[in-house]
Amino acid sequence: MSSKDTDFQAFHWLADMVESVEVGLVVLDLDFRVQAWNGFMENHSGLTASRVHHRNLFELFPEIPRHWLTRKINTVVTLKTRTFTSWEQRPWVFRFRNTRPVTGVEEFMFQNLTISPLTAVDGSVEKVCLTVYDVTDMATSKRALEKANDELQRLSVMDRATGLFNRIAWENLLDAEYERHFRYGHDAAVALLDIDHFKSINDSHGHLYGDEVIRQTAQIIRENLRQADRPGRFGGDEFGILLPETDAEGARCICNRIRDSLAQCPVASANGPIRFTVSIGVASLSESPQNSQQWLKQADAALYQAKEAGRNQVVVLS
Ligand code: GH3
Ligand code: MG
Repeated sequence: MSSKDTDFQAFHWLADMVESVEVGLVVLDLDFRVQAWNGFMENHSGLTASRVHHRNLFELFPEIPRHWLTRKINTVVTLKTRTFTSWEQRPWVFRFRNTRPVTGVEEFMFQNLTISPLTAVDGSVEKVCLTVYDVTDMATSKRALEKANDELQRLSVMDRATGLFNRIAWENLLDAEYERHFRYGHDAAVALLDIDHFKSINDSHGHLYGDEVIRQTAQIIRENLRQADRPGRFGGDEFGILLPETDAEGARCICNRIRDSLAQCPVASANGPIRFTVSIGVASLSESPQNSQQWLKQADAALYQAKEAGRNQVVVLS
């Protein structure tokens, strides 16, 4: 066999490999006209090599961001180095349907892309090769993991029964708000809310309705707050509300609104509506607490006064 024959054989095998390899291979000239298009690209685009040959890539695939890819390719040609983009920057370059059975939930194939310069015999770069990797499996598991982590993070700061912040998370927010005040002098108020005679609600209607009263309280607190306010469940029938950028009078107004709404929203039960009220103690940072715990104690003292004064009222420490 002549060496020419051997060369030809080798070329034949190579061509076969390029055709069947499980990555997309596209060769473009410097006017972005397709010079090579392997089996992977044919299968996923539904366009045969003969149909795309010599045609402009951006006319074939108008969804490819032209400005972005042109800039990338020009850099590869100028610097004669390869470049890489990942699915995390851009989920896909070619909008191919996802055909993987396991990760069938994703509509499109996630792709990584490398762009390599192809040098001619004289060293000039007249073509580039795009290599398209299907990374749908990896991207899908990474996304699922991130989602699970977000959910875990959410659950770790949440009170299960009410969906409000739990005590630990809420006290962390309180610390942070106090720090903000200490550094920048921002105003803020904290309110402690406790359901009046909750024990007797449990006793007369049972724990399940008691729980319903707690959920209703959380819901109405939430409905009466602004986006930046932070409600938390302290445990039992006690709630904490952090009110950033709010002075004592502003806090009194918000807390009275909550108290009124709750007094007017009984929980329905088999034995008729369960009416209940709450007492609220408020301390604003103008009381100059030494730290966040003292701030909380001031609100607790105000709550105690509200209970002592007959319940169903708001007391602002002054
Ligand atoms: P006061 O007006 O002085 O606040 O009287 P109170 O009866 O509400 O007294 P207190 O706040 O001490 O009562 C809290 C009760 O809440 C005691 C406990 O049995 C009950 N409790 C605590 N956690 C839960 C809960 O998750 N669900 C229910 N149903 N009851 C709870
Ligand atoms: Mg109570």
